[in-house]
Amino acid sequence: MSTKQNAIKIVDALRKRYPQKPDMDLGNADDSLIATIMSARTTDAQVLKMFPGFRRKFPTWKKLASADLRDVAAAMNTIGLYRNKAKSLKALARKIIADFDGKVPRTMDELVTLPGVGRKTASCVLAYAYGVPAIAVDTHVFRIAHRLGWSKGKTPEKVEYDIKKILPEKLWNDVNRTMVRFGREICVGGKKPKCWLCPVAKWCVFAPKINKPSH
Ligand code: SF4
Repeated sequence: MSTKQNAIKIVDALRKRYPQKPDMDLGNADDSLIATIMSARTTDAQVLKMFPGFRRKFPTWKKLASADLRDVAAAMNTIGLYRNKAKSLKALARKIIADFDGKVPRTMDELVTLPGVGRKTASCVLAYAYGVPAIAVDTHVFRIAHRLGWSKGKTPEKVEYDIKKILPEKLWNDVNRTMVRFGREICVGGKKPKCWLCPVAKWCVFAPKINKPSH
């Protein structure tokens, strides 16, 4: 079976195993964008805990743009890199108001012009808030794509490009959504993925596959 056929089977199996919506899909583009920026080098759980309080303080782009930077930082000081993220969010709010009429843009080219937004964050917003086909290559997608033999790319951009060549567009939005959970639970980082629990092991080229520890 070809890599492309295997890849479709793998994503189908992961979709069945992980039907949940992604943590950072908060139902609208504003919240999804802010939460995704906040989630860099921080757990989603930490972000989701402080997020409602933050949005009560800064419910609109206008409020965020005009707020004192110290207040923005203080409202998010339970997450990593909060000072830098606060700066980005304020600048982002200003730019969305000035250049995009107060609305989160809907294209990759426009999204990556926003402060603090790279291709990964932009892809999350496109996929989760707007339903536009995109692949956010985070640490999980990067690692799993290598193990599955989908890419040998050294950068997230190259891995994104390789996956897009292998998978039909209609499956792109399932890649990050399912692999984040799969990567936390089974195809974990480090040297010991839990291959004995893996629902896609028969299509994976990772060698050697790890057996269940005997103890
Ligand atoms: S078989 Fe192992 S390395 Fe391959 S996808 Fe499954 S858990 Fe990851």
